Amino acid sequence: MTNLKETYPLWNLDKFYYKWDDKTLRIGTDDTGSWNIPDDNGTWKYMISICNGELTTNEICVDVSNKYSIEQKTILESLKQLEQNGCLTFLEDRFILNDWTNRYKTNIAYFTSKNINGITAQKKLNSLKITILGLGGGGFTILSNLISLGVEDFHIVDFDTVELSNLNRQIIFKESDLGKLKVEVGMEYAKSRNSNLKISQSKKKMNTVADIESEISDSDWVFCCMDEPAYIAQRLVSKACFNLKKPVIFGFCQKENGRTFIVNPSNTGCVDCLFTQIANDQFVHLVSALKKSDFKPVTSATSITINLLCDLMIKNWLDNVVYGKKNENQIIRLDFNDFQMTKVVDFKKHPSCPTCGDKQNLNQSELFNIIPIS
Ligand SMILES: [Zn+2]
Repeated sequence: MTNLKETYPLWNLDKFYYKWDDKTLRIGTDDTGSWNIPDDNGTWKYMISICNGELTTNEICVDVSNKYSIEQKTILESLKQLEQNGCLTFLEDRFILNDWTNRYKTNIAYFTSKNINGITAQKKLNSLKITILGLGGGGFTILSNLISLGVEDFHIVDFDTVELSNLNRQIIFKESDLGKLKVEVGMEYAKSRNSNLKISQSKKKMNTVADIESEISDSDWVFCCMDEPAYIAQRLVSKACFNLKKPVIFGFCQKENGRTFIVNPSNTGCVDCLFTQIANDQFVHLVSALKKSDFKPVTSATSITINLLCDLMIKNWLDNVVYGKKNENQIIRLDFNDFQMTKVVDFKKHPSCPTCGDKQNLNQSELFNIIPIS
């Protein structure tokens, strides 16, 4: 840990400070979480004004001490107090106002306001490589939001072209995109949002576990936004991610609700664990009947419901990747009618899972014969 005196205090952008009256400084604008500090000679206001991430803590202490004849250790204590109250961050590196900080300053302010180091969080997001499997309404919305959050390295996979019925669900597609490959539209769109961004694409159809493995091998995270063939697509992605130990986010959009969950194969169960847990006779019969009917569900979703689901997927992912929340293997459901959010299933690694379980005790469930993968 760097010596505190050599750090660079940076005032948190969301903590607005202003003169309340001639003798008082106020921090914050909200009804709660704001407070008044006696400051009749302007010491605090000056000290805060130079917490801009460019001066070290020591330089600030010396400067304020000389200007207002206060002991340096008193100033240091005040800075620590402000840090404990979420007002500033002691950065290990000098904060330089440049294109990067300007681009991401609202993200940084947001993360910092959640009591974590916003700059570290933003740099982490900048450093991740993410693969998006499926670039329909969901995949494109995920891509757009991840660019806003500062992810700068993508691989996008989809074999399909933009059709007329895509235009109502995905606000980024234009009529002039009709007939173009979705990945090509995605590449052009992503680069137009951030010229620093690295992005590659594949139009291969994902039929086998090996197909998916070849697309995700150098990714940090995978977003599974492909939903066909039903059940099989999720099994394929889950198994490929298990084999290569890649964490993955799944999302499902139905008419009335959206559901999402994270699988992290390094330490939790997988989609087959979930299926093993829920494969009662009724579920097996349902999947069997749908399969026999050559199940190809018609999408009954609007851009609004897809956006709600994608926001939920990304927020849940952010909780994990930025805030370290242990929210894996929980299916979270958002009801689109009353906005109730519930955890519907909390599943664990299953010993007889055919993908990640004990090889001596493989699951012989009929379910896995109905929806086989290879
Ligand atoms: Zn499993």
